[in-house]
Amino acid sequence: MSNSGSSRFSSEQVEYAHAVRAFCNREAGTREQRDALTDNGRECHSPELHQKFADAGLLAVSIPEEYGGSGGGLVEQCLMFEEIFRGLAPLHGAGTSHTVAGIYKKFANEEQKKDALAAISSGTVMSISISEPEAGSDAANISCKAEKVDQGYRITGQKTWCSDAQFAGRILLVARTSRGEKRHDGLTMLEVPAGSEGLDINPISTMGGREVNDLFFTDVLVPDSAVVGEAGGAWKQVMAGLNGERLVCAAQALGSAQRTFDDLLDYVKERKQFGQPIGTFQALRHRIADIAIEIEAARALTYDTVLLVEKGTAPADELVRRTSMAKVKMTEVAKKVALEGVQMMGGYGYATEYGMESHLRHSIAPTIYAGTNEVQREIISSTFGLR
Ligand SMILES: Cc1cc2nc3c(=O)[nH]c(=O)nc-3n(C[C@H](O)[C@H](O)[C@H](O)COP(=O)(O)OP(=O)(O)OC[C@H]3O[C@@H](n4cnc5c(N)ncnc54)[C@H](O)[C@@H]3O)c2cc1C
Repeated sequence: MSNSGSSRFSSEQVEYAHAVRAFCNREAGTREQRDALTDNGRECHSPELHQKFADAGLLAVSIPEEYGGSGGGLVEQCLMFEEIFRGLAPLHGAGTSHTVAGIYKKFANEEQKKDALAAISSGTVMSISISEPEAGSDAANISCKAEKVDQGYRITGQKTWCSDAQFAGRILLVARTSRGEKRHDGLTMLEVPAGSEGLDINPISTMGGREVNDLFFTDVLVPDSAVVGEAGGAWKQVMAGLNGERLVCAAQALGSAQRTFDDLLDYVKERKQFGQPIGTFQALRHRIADIAIEIEAARALTYDTVLLVEKGTAPADELVRRTSMAKVKMTEVAKKVALEGVQMMGGYGYATEYGMESHLRHSIAPTIYAGTNEVQREIISSTFGLR
């Protein structure tokens, strides 16, 4: 199963997806290659591979040509991440960099675009830092402060869950610059160099490996020119990128689900018990058919929504609803496929040596980040007038 025969995409888009697949196969196609790139699976991102991906002209697919990219859009971005996740290529930082690039494309001034988008195109990783210990799903509860001082801002406070900050050249921070009547007001985006004095980046240990970090800001100074977009207008800027971010998350989950399915299929064809391949037992055969159906249905929902959002002509409520539906469905299908994979592989599904337990561990976080699936259900039901 794949997008190859799909009439949804242009031949250029399919060609591009094939090029990303070929890169992932070549550079990270074997377990040995991936172990060498990821410190035996502990890292989700290889700076060396990221640079190669950028140098091959594959990374900056949705960045405009004038800033070093190839000028594609959300479709290309989703195809890229589907293939990266299907190929298990450790390019986690490409995800956060594209989220940041989306915000710069819409809201940064020309000088910032020239600088930051060109940096992303040529391989600089960027992170985005919104979440705090007391501001998770309730993201407007941000208290990390950026106080106006002479010719700039002084930042103090704590951030958490910042993906890929340990590899990042710069962090796009959302901090509180004032308190208004509404909690969503008074938030500002600031570009902070990762090596800034007073900024400590501490890894959080997780079941997915070393991917996220706590950030501690102690009197970190940035100039006025660090403000990205409108001072006090960060909430609107974050919201503007959410459909794209959630659909990329769905595309990543699609790649994961497909890879998990492919690995499982290989195993159940190969492994014999009672003198026959275990995949020929009806108890497994029908479940394989069921998860294949789920993947294809979720793929259709995901890419139909990507195309709808790219076209942008549907009412905003519908775009938001469909996006949340695709994010929930695709991430939950990926988790279900991995859970079924572990069960169908018996003890070998549980063993680290085989890939299935890693597929299961990595299938959990996407149901939490980019807005938890509970929050997505809140959004979906609210578009039906239920609050
Ligand atoms: C691997 C990973 C990477 C991440 N990367 C980043 C990043 O790069 N940058 C960044 O800023 N953040 C990042 N995050 C943070 C992520 O966005 C938050 O974890 C997420 O928004 C949930 O917040 P929380 O963890 O504080 O959980 P909480 O908000 O405390 O939620 C706990 C539970 O309550 C439920 N809940 C909360 N509110 C509601 C509600 N209104 N209705 C129904 N249920 C509700 C949630 O769904 C969840 O089940 C990342 C998280 C993870 C796990």
